[in-house]
Amino acid sequence: MSYDPQPQASHYIGGAYVEDSSGTEIPVIYPATGERIATLHAATPAIVDQALAAAEAAQKVWATWTPRARGRVLTRAAQIMRERNRELSELETRDTGKPLQETLVADATSGADALEYFGGLAAGLTGEHIQLGDDWVYTIREPLGVCVGIGAWNYPTQIACWKTAPALACGNAMVFKPSETTPLSALKVAEILTEAGAPAGLFNVVQGMGEVGAALVTDPRVAKVSLTGSAATGKRVYAAAAAEMKHVTMELGGKSPLIVFEDAEIDNAVSGAINGNFYSSGQVCSNGTRVFVHRSIKEAFLERLTERLSGIVYGDPLDEATNFGPMVSERQMQIVQGFIEKGVAEGARLVAGGKRLEREGFFLEATIFADVTDDMTIAREEIFGPVMSVLDFETEDEAVTRANATEYGLSAGVFTRDISRAHRVIRSLEAGSCFINSYNDAPVEAPFGGVKASGVGRENAHAALEHYSQLRSVYVRMGDVEAPF
Ligand code: NDP
Repeated sequence: MSYDPQPQASHYIGGAYVEDSSGTEIPVIYPATGERIATLHAATPAIVDQALAAAEAAQKVWATWTPRARGRVLTRAAQIMRERNRELSELETRDTGKPLQETLVADATSGADALEYFGGLAAGLTGEHIQLGDDWVYTIREPLGVCVGIGAWNYPTQIACWKTAPALACGNAMVFKPSETTPLSALKVAEILTEAGAPAGLFNVVQGMGEVGAALVTDPRVAKVSLTGSAATGKRVYAAAAAEMKHVTMELGGKSPLIVFEDAEIDNAVSGAINGNFYSSGQVCSNGTRVFVHRSIKEAFLERLTERLSGIVYGDPLDEATNFGPMVSERQMQIVQGFIEKGVAEGARLVAGGKRLEREGFFLEATIFADVTDDMTIAREEIFGPVMSVLDFETEDEAVTRANATEYGLSAGVFTRDISRAHRVIRSLEAGSCFINSYNDAPVEAPFGGVKASGVGRENAHAALEHYSQLRSVYVRMGDVEAPF
């Protein structure tokens, strides 16, 4: 191990590390070996209070900065994050088990993209002028206040930055609670923002399980809650926030369709299916886990797909040659194993994988089921692991109807050479983030988020600014005021 992943303390509040060891112990486990690499403590009510008070005070000052000055802090943070990419990626790999080959290009780099992008947009945050004869209205885009971010464990750095960058650009402060499974990287984001010139208290990190999240969500000082997590948690958090009319962004789970038509370029479609099922060992919310393949090419598709599995390199995630890491935790591995057993029991054809690797750590094989039917558990429920379900279809209408027959609506993809069909089918799929002849691209310039049970609001792009600000309108009368009496 090149350095010690144990942070100076569990929380980061008011521009400094803070500890309160009376909070419940949070062991941090390296998923590739099962060894404990750090020990943190969950926030006590006093820590939660301290973080919210710090955020509230910092926000009042930050909102008076010019947007350009705010943007400069974010772009400086982006630059520092890129300079430290390797160190941050190694930490992310230890925290999540994702291969360094991935974290070097998809985590701190994606976080830096968001900081840079929203840093650049900050100065463009303006209201509008609406002329009404002699009178006129002007609008002011204002911050919401203190925002709470709650993260899932699959992309800890990215999630922290995707929420924080637009929030800060708009003049808000943030209290962020990472998943207790991956608590380390958000602390590094906090260090970097302080170094880049963010006022003390602008970005705070508190650790803890669901109850810490719940305490943050219900606090009257909080104006907005942005959660990345499961649909079940999302419904609970949304309801708690709604009780006090708080703003929300909900980035939740999915069971997204990837439709491969008979005229698709098969190798590209196979690559899309691999990216959309096995990247990060399948622990990606937008994954295309229901792969609908036209019956006429099903066997060719499966043959090519299984051949490509020989390119998998399981192993030490810190070795850059490794391209397939473990599940994030023993519990997540067991959940996924349960789904694989159900797939077999319900009659799906196991084409590849299905087993735990005989080595230390929480490794599962890349698993492919064929002849999956819509009623099977593996076709209905989000698995969040390396399990691809291949279903076959005959007609375009049938594929669209079946693809939409889910409570979720996060993503959808289509592979075809027929451009009219590509656009027609994408328009008829119920999903927020869609792909044509590709899968799972998520540049910061594109709005990201779901419909139906997959969430509300959008992250990234200009759209995110709408979700971290509110409009004040001011009517200006130039003449006399008429009144009925
Ligand atoms: P969970 O829904 O279990 O948890 C998400 C976060 O919410 C965690 O930090 C959790 O704390 C916290 N939490 C749990 N209960 C409450 C509560 N009552 N009030 C406030 N906060 C609470 O999700 P996972 O961490 O297991 O992540 C996997 C899920 O995330 C998948 O379903 C996946 O689809 C979804 N996801 C969605 C993405 C998207 O952008 N749409 C991206 C990535 C993942 P803790 O776990 O520490 O107890």
